[in-house]
Amino acid sequence: MWVINTLTGNMNLSEGRNMNILIIYAHPNHQSFNGAVLEQVQNNLGKQHTVKTIDLYAEHFDPVLFFDKEHRRRDLATDPYTKKYRDLITWANELIFIFPVWWGGMPAILKGFTDRVFVSGWAYKGKKIGMEGKLGGRRAWIIISHDTPRIAVPFMPDYGSVLKRQVLGNCGIKPCRITHLTPLKSSTLEQRQKMLAKVGKLAREV
Ligand SMILES: Cc1cc2nc3c(=O)[nH]c(=O)nc-3n(C[C@H](O)[C@H](O)[C@H](O)COP(=O)(O)OP(=O)(O)OC[C@H]3O[C@@H](n4cnc5c(N)ncnc54)[C@H](O)[C@@H]3O)c2cc1C
Repeated sequence: MWVINTLTGNMNLSEGRNMNILIIYAHPNHQSFNGAVLEQVQNNLGKQHTVKTIDLYAEHFDPVLFFDKEHRRRDLATDPYTKKYRDLITWANELIFIFPVWWGGMPAILKGFTDRVFVSGWAYKGKKIGMEGKLGGRRAWIIISHDTPRIAVPFMPDYGSVLKRQVLGNCGIKPCRITHLTPLKSSTLEQRQKMLAKVGKLAREV
């Protein structure tokens, strides 16, 4: 078995409901394995759903979060540059993230997307202790590829869990499952094709 699924909470399949699904894709090359994963998800989600995709590299998303005395942090919640993304997340019932693991975590372009879009005052409210998520009622599916043997995955820091717990969980987006496509480097073509077929099956079940 080359596809590992982890899930916290009840995933509650959509049971034929029409869902608004937002795919957030972070890989620079559409001819890559991740490009094939994106295609597989887009082609297999049920036709009853409305699906939109944010392709961060194609959009040349600027991932650098900046604030100072003139550009205040509290204004990030109404930043015109990220309005389109806030509107898409507001519209969505389910978020699907597709990306390769780079240095244990998200590619910088996606990390910057979370820094700039999931901001205080919009995605969450700071409490004395902890945070109050403002994006509840949405669930997520994180699909990641990497080269780490599946036996080692439970011992690795991050590998999707920072996005799942720190970002999405704190903003109220749960349940969230992670699908690991691994190990890519040492896999045969047949094994990779099986991984893609499994992703297609999971997408049909959304
Ligand atoms: C900066 C950096 C840091 C990294 N850090 C880590 C890390 O911390 N931990 C870790 O485990 N890994 C790490 N990696 C490895 C990385 O996670 C993998 O290289 C990545 O997941 C591969 O995904 P890809 O889409 O780029 O694959 P690709 O390189 O495009 O493809 C991988 C393989 O799949 C084949 N392939 C492509 N398309 C298809 C298709 N349609 N059907 C079947 N086969 C296909 C390719 O020919 C190739 O053999 C790192 C890589 C980089 C560049």
